[in-house]
Amino acid sequence: MDVSINFNEEVKVQLTAVGIDILKQNHQQSAKHFMDRGFTYPEFKLKVDDEGWSTFQFWHLMNLFGNHMYPSMAQPFGAMVVIPKSKPIDTVKIKGVEVPLCIRCGVPTKKESEVSEGDKPSARIVCRTCYGK
Ligand SMILES: [Zn+2]
Repeated sequence: MDVSINFNEEVKVQLTAVGIDILKQNHQQSAKHFMDRGFTYPEFKLKVDDEGWSTFQFWHLMNLFGNHMYPSMAQPFGAMVVIPKSKPIDTVKIKGVEVPLCIRCGVPTKKESEVSEGDKPSARIVCRTCYGK
């Protein structure tokens, strides 16, 4: 089942000690930047819910941890990312091929003339009319 997610949506991860260290280092750099210029900066505070999940906007998670993710890395968070508001992408069968409906307007993302029997399921999730809007 494919799901769509906007970069601004929130995702939940379970941070490891490595991930918490990355956040602390990041916080220290920001604090230094502002305090060197005479501003105050809040103390580091880790936000974790009762089940150990921390919530970030998707873009912010990538921004914070992207540089720390590579093969054989020390994982900054568990392998599972929860996308609380995600919803399945609806599909329609055209000539036996799964074609997603546009996540913005709901029309099939491919016309019947663009689909041939035996095609792989289409990865397009936005129709041509909505693309780039
Ligand atoms: Zn559309």
